[in-house]
Amino acid sequence: MRKKQFKAESRRLLDLMINSIYTHREIFLREILSNASDAIDKLCYLSLTDDKVGLNRGDFAITISVDKDARTITVSDNGIGMSESELENNLGVIASSGSYKFRREQGEDAADTDIIGQFGVGFYSAFMVSDHITVVTKKYGEEQAWKWESTGVEGYTVTEAEREAVGTDIIMHIKPDGEEPNEFSQYLQDWTIKSLVKKYSDYIRFPIKMLLPHSVKKPDSPEDKPAYETVYEWETLNSMVPLWQRKKSEVKKEEYDEFFMQRFGEMAPPQSVISVAAEGAVTYKALLFIPSKVPNLYYTQDFKPGLQLYSAGVMIMDHCEELLPEHFSFVRGVVDSPDLSLNISRELLQHDRQLKIISANLEKKIIAELKKMLADDRAGYEKFYGNFGRALKVGVLNQYGEKRESLQDLLLFYSSTEKKPVTLREYVGRMPESQKYIYYAAGDTVESIDSLPQTELLKDRSMEILYCTDRADEFLADSLRTYGGKEFRSAVDGDLGLEDAPKTQESDSDKECLAFIKETLGDRVDEVKASGKLKTHPVCMTSGEGLTFEMEKYFKAIQPELNMKAKRILEINVAHPAFLKLESVRTTDPELAGKYAEVLYNQALLIAGLPIADPSGYTDLVCSLWS
Ligand code: ADP
Repeated sequence: MRKKQFKAESRRLLDLMINSIYTHREIFLREILSNASDAIDKLCYLSLTDDKVGLNRGDFAITISVDKDARTITVSDNGIGMSESELENNLGVIASSGSYKFRREQGEDAADTDIIGQFGVGFYSAFMVSDHITVVTKKYGEEQAWKWESTGVEGYTVTEAEREAVGTDIIMHIKPDGEEPNEFSQYLQDWTIKSLVKKYSDYIRFPIKMLLPHSVKKPDSPEDKPAYETVYEWETLNSMVPLWQRKKSEVKKEEYDEFFMQRFGEMAPPQSVISVAAEGAVTYKALLFIPSKVPNLYYTQDFKPGLQLYSAGVMIMDHCEELLPEHFSFVRGVVDSPDLSLNISRELLQHDRQLKIISANLEKKIIAELKKMLADDRAGYEKFYGNFGRALKVGVLNQYGEKRESLQDLLLFYSSTEKKPVTLREYVGRMPESQKYIYYAAGDTVESIDSLPQTELLKDRSMEILYCTDRADEFLADSLRTYGGKEFRSAVDGDLGLEDAPKTQESDSDKECLAFIKETLGDRVDEVKASGKLKTHPVCMTSGEGLTFEMEKYFKAIQPELNMKAKRILEINVAHPAFLKLESVRTTDPELAGKYAEVLYNQALLIAGLPIADPSGYTDLVCSLWS
């Protein structure tokens, strides 16, 4: 019998499949099962209006049989089947030419393996693991069955065959192992097949059955000395009805918990579950989870963000990053849309309009869920914020602040007066009318900020200060600039705008003394001035506008080569006894006055958490003062 040739582009794709060294060969089973499910869908649909089909919804099934000796995997369905000409047309030419077109558009540069990875390559993907494929099929409404056979690029044959019932068998002859042990034989293992079905085809709407060995007690063996035998039973491998297709009110919390932990390998139940059913511009279902714990690799490069993407129950992609903005990358979940094609590539996804709509919608849903949590379960929200607050902050800071409007109400800052995390809305809501600014102060801990001399005046007036204990917090305040029409103002560095602030009345002698200190300290300070912020404390170091000390520390830690340095302004309480003492000896004992200046300077550095240049020299200097 004469072999028929594949169409040119099919040959090329086949060639690619056969010689594939691609590591994701395992998708072949998904492709074959999805074809079987489509074929059943068609006949099932017909059966609604055509009694002659003689099958009910519950009669449809896909079976997988493995013959380890013959090295075959057979996937059978009782779907619509194919006629002779359909066999020719469907399996002789590349059906959805998406992958081929893509390859052409990319020139020949795109690596073969990429193409296989990015596309579901349909039926031909079976050639990644088989060296010979036989298809036996009988079309609904026809008497004659047909056999299609191919060993690859040389071509294929179509001959008459026997098949009693309508449907299709795809018999894949698995390749012998190459250099790698178990390279192909693994696909003949029950366990591999079971896990591939679970992974990719769990939600195919028809049962996928497999004959599997079970060990059962021999009926005639005694109870006290039971003997066992192996019997084969049909087992359904897939769960069929996806959790996300069910109404949230009908799903138990335990079911969601179990699904989340199993599916995403998490150790604890999720903190929140968001269930979305959308119809309109795009029809889809989504099930999203906010983890209650930070996922293992979350803050590392190895963390793979993205949602699982399904098209009508068949998984297309494990980590579809396009579905979530970066600041919500901690969200786990599944999106299933019948509007998406199985053969969509990662490149095409980026421009996919439907996907963009879904992603914008999901972002809104997540924000709404977090706002609800903030309103109804404050403790829960604080826990969430402890886990993922950093991601929200990055969201506000990134993309030129494009997301600040939508995210700013989700931020929390520790409040000096409430002694707990508060929102900006709460802060602004209780601001007295006389207060001009939203005050904030940065430092390593609440205690270290609390002891900053600069915060004293505000605390005296019972004014609330937002403590930025996380490095990102200060950048946030800086980048937000305003909230609710109120400007942010650093309590540490800025002009506090207090109407009743103590005036800095410098006498001429004060001025001379300040100049003396500047001269003593030289370039180490940019300015020495009388402070309007200090009451009981003698000195503080401020940075004025621009880069702050906390930012300087941050940059020093991550990009030391930039050598970013904040301004150093030494502010002195000119009414303080320490300054008065310095002033009193300045002309009579300039050397001692110089030492006092050194002490004031180094104290100010210490309070600001800045390193002092020569700690042991400084200790000697202090000790010399009482000798
Ligand atoms: P796609 O599924 O993307 O169309 P495939 O290469 O996987 O591409 O399949 C080509 C065509 O072959 C299908 O569209 C379908 O018409 C037919 N086909 C494949 N498998 C079966 C099956 N089990 N039963 C009936 N038709 C099938």
